[in-house]
Amino acid sequence: MTNTNPGQGLLDRLTRVLPQRALLMGDAIGPVYQEDRRGRFSAKPRFILRPGTTAEVSAALAACDAVGQRLVMQGGRTGLAGAHRIMEGEAVLSLERMTAIGEVEPESATLIAEAGVPLQAVQMAAARANHLFGVDIGSRGTATIGGAISTNAGGIRVLRYGMFRAQIAGLETVLADGSVLSSLRGLDKDNTGYDLNQLFIGAEGTLGVVTRARLRLHPAPVAEQIAVLSVPTIAAALALLRRLKQTSGGALSAFEIMLPDAYAGVIGFLGMPPPLPLGAAFYILAEIQASSGAEAAEQTFQAALMAAITEGEALDAIISQSQREFAALWAMRDAFADYTRTIDHVSSGDISVPLSAMAAFLPQSQAALRQIDPETAFIICGHLGDGNLHYVIQTQQGAAAMECLLHMVVAHGGSVSAEHGIGVDKKPWLRLSRSAAEIAAMQRLKAALDPRGILNRDRIFDHLGR
Ligand SMILES: Cc1cc2nc3c(=O)[nH]c(=O)nc-3n(C[C@H](O)[C@H](O)[C@H](O)COP(=O)(O)OP(=O)(O)OC[C@H]3O[C@@H](n4cnc5c(N)ncnc54)[C@H](O)[C@@H]3O)c2cc1C
Repeated sequence: MTNTNPGQGLLDRLTRVLPQRALLMGDAIGPVYQEDRRGRFSAKPRFILRPGTTAEVSAALAACDAVGQRLVMQGGRTGLAGAHRIMEGEAVLSLERMTAIGEVEPESATLIAEAGVPLQAVQMAAARANHLFGVDIGSRGTATIGGAISTNAGGIRVLRYGMFRAQIAGLETVLADGSVLSSLRGLDKDNTGYDLNQLFIGAEGTLGVVTRARLRLHPAPVAEQIAVLSVPTIAAALALLRRLKQTSGGALSAFEIMLPDAYAGVIGFLGMPPPLPLGAAFYILAEIQASSGAEAAEQTFQAALMAAITEGEALDAIISQSQREFAALWAMRDAFADYTRTIDHVSSGDISVPLSAMAAFLPQSQAALRQIDPETAFIICGHLGDGNLHYVIQTQQGAAAMECLLHMVVAHGGSVSAEHGIGVDKKPWLRLSRSAAEIAAMQRLKAALDPRGILNRDRIFDHLGR
């Protein structure tokens, strides 16, 4: 049985095993822990744990596990599936004080970062050592390494570098009972039984607390360029993607799509001149990052774009000519999330479908949603190169529309959550993407590693034994 009232005994133990600044209670707890990017309700936490070391995380977990005190892990609270929101009776375990970041180790091209380090700090440390960190997301300044690992964050360069999982060369995690697991030694080869790291990547804090990670880096690009293109159809966009993949010699690093309402909306939101005129059917942002042969890579990219226009895959294109233009075009794409927060009656699906199904899925899903509400606006943007759309719609029929959309996603062989996770918000739809046997296996794993269910309980799926 779980004790929902930790009582003085737990607080006394925590006070004994943790330094004063690692435990906040009462009025010392600021409203920041209840923040949510979607503005949804988060309960008041019983107390806040702010450990500064792995040993403190371990001691705090052992104390909470002993009395069944439920905890929610928090990094930067930028998660978009609500798993960081506080449920009644929970305390917060925040990694905000674990912000140490190691030197880049040139032999392995890796660095070790603590869980509370912002993603951007890792990107900057890599750049200072003439390397690149492969994951980039709009929330880079606030999202933490622990949160990004726990959501297996994706972002704009998955096409070239993979999701967060691909960046992990080692992990340190703490289980609910306080046991510490570590694979930080930096071994590329280690087949001594199960690869336990994989369990924690994308587990949304349900299986353990990530405390440190050894992160892989890539050579810094010698050239990077971004092009914005208008394209007439989805089929043409996919032909353009194939062309750029085939000609770029692996340098194609991003291939993003914006539908007209997303493009026009973001441009209006930022008050910037449109890079290409409004009114096209689709807009594509394509980026190359070349690790050698800068001039040749840029010429090849430009020649491919010219050929795409000649073949009718693209109608118009502009290419960044300076670092300033490069940054301004990415700023336009980055502003999408903030822009959509300004719109009323918005529903948002982070979905993926196989690229082979995309040309059918998009018009069919739009037609189906227009049947529910003919006034539906499609403010869609996404990582088309990965088959991942941030399918944002404006409609008064949000609940019915989302149900319809997610069923159509599954009918086209897709996933109801491409990169944001299930958290709390998408729990009702997990069963559409995962079989009963898969969900039962996940629940058994959870019960084995966290038998009292103290870590992020009721995220992804309901706690067993209800
Ligand atoms: C503007 C914007 C753009 C975004 N763009 C993208 C994008 O392109 N791609 C993408 O994938 N996501 C994107 N996101 C979502 C979000 O930024 C990522 O999921 C991010 O990785 C979450 O990091 P965080 O530190 O904020 O984690 P939080 O929101 O604090 O937590 C997320 C989850 O991880 C758990 N958690 C946090 N820290 C730990 C830890 N140390 N150990 C165990 N569990 C932990 C939490 O309990 C929760 O389940 C975006 C969000 C915003 C606001």
